[in-house]
Amino acid sequence: MTAAELRADMVLAIGERTPQLGTDGRLRVLVTGSRKWRREDIVRDALSICCNIAGGLAGTLVVVHGGAIGADSYADNWTKGKVKLGWPVEEPERHKADWRADCTDRCRPLPTSGRPLGHRREDPRGFTVCPAAGFYRNELMVRLGAQLCLAFIKDNSHGASHCSDLAEKAGIDIVKFEL
Ligand SMILES: [Zn+2]
Repeated sequence: MTAAELRADMVLAIGERTPQLGTDGRLRVLVTGSRKWRREDIVRDALSICCNIAGGLAGTLVVVHGGAIGADSYADNWTKGKVKLGWPVEEPERHKADWRADCTDRCRPLPTSGRPLGHRREDPRGFTVCPAAGFYRNELMVRLGAQLCLAFIKDNSHGASHCSDLAEKAGIDIVKFEL
């Protein structure tokens, strides 16, 4: 598939969802993607299409992402660049996972289960991390709402698939790009 064909496909796929602005006049687009996603061009093109839609509706685009490497960082770079150029885009909304946060009562096994660390893992830098922190972050992003979710999934990556599944369950329209 050529780059032009790919872009035409994306315009169709995103347009078919007919995303509308939220009541606040914003088009919130939740970006979830694999850390190993390498096709920056696809992320940029998809966001440009969303921006055209938001602008066409006299609104602004808000790009919401998890602040990770890969697709998230491409989305972040695109957004910052377009804010500087005066496009109808707001500063990116980043939700980094708080890996060092305390476990919640939904974590299994809990540190009180007899295993001193529960499911926490030791980090070589001298602290412990909650492996579910990324999932809790995904839940938060979905709870905050979005008009559209763009999922950039490489090799069925677990985190990005989890986030897009949650978005789907929450009734958010999704356009999935899989490599
Ligand atoms: Zn935990």
